Amino acid sequence: MRNIKIPGLSLTHTINTIFCIGRNYKDHAKELNNPLPDLPVVFTKPVNTVIFSGGEIIIPRRLTNDVHHEAEMVVSIGKFGSYISPEDAMEYVSGYGIGIDITARDVQSALKSKGHPWTLAKGMDTFAPIGDFVDAEKVADPHNLDITLHVNGELRQKGNTSDMIFTIPALISYISEYATLHKGDLIFTGTPAGVGPLHDGDEITAEIGNGISSLSVNVRDL
Ligand code: MG
Repeated sequence: MRNIKIPGLSLTHTINTIFCIGRNYKDHAKELNNPLPDLPVVFTKPVNTVIFSGGEIIIPRRLTNDVHHEAEMVVSIGKFGSYISPEDAMEYVSGYGIGIDITARDVQSALKSKGHPWTLAKGMDTFAPIGDFVDAEKVADPHNLDITLHVNGELRQKGNTSDMIFTIPALISYISEYATLHKGDLIFTGTPAGVGPLHDGDEITAEIGNGISSLSVNVRDL
């Protein structure tokens, strides 16, 4: 069993399930010609995807030629719970961090066109870089945090968590109706517009809340 700690939190959490939300920002749904969802679009990434700041995203070019960055606010869950009401949901949050939902877009499109799950497009090794998290009580308003991502110093993504279609309590409540949440679960809350391809040698930096959580990773082709 893997035993990977969420970096930065004052309490020790081993990463458990990694939930992700798709199409949670209007401008991003639009740039990929996807309809706006009536309910949250939920998928998971396996834990082999996790790397930390300073690490390397490895792109297996025999499998994909179009790997995209998706900068996202990531919420960590601090306690066990199911059927959590939106009113109680924020009590389950232990912290916030920046993450990048790395996506092999060509693989995802091929799988989607066949009606297959897109796990493999999102689940390759190193496809979930995360920065150091901060404890929840240090973040006054998680629904008003800037999200930025730069590639080689150039701004590629800029958004604000106030534009999320489904808020943190809505997401926690919705997921917990289906899947019991546990300490150490992560929720990638969706990406704003500006997703784009990565290339060998790229240097990526991303942050939320003007430095509340940041990360820096490099890209390497394999
Ligand atoms: Mg995403």
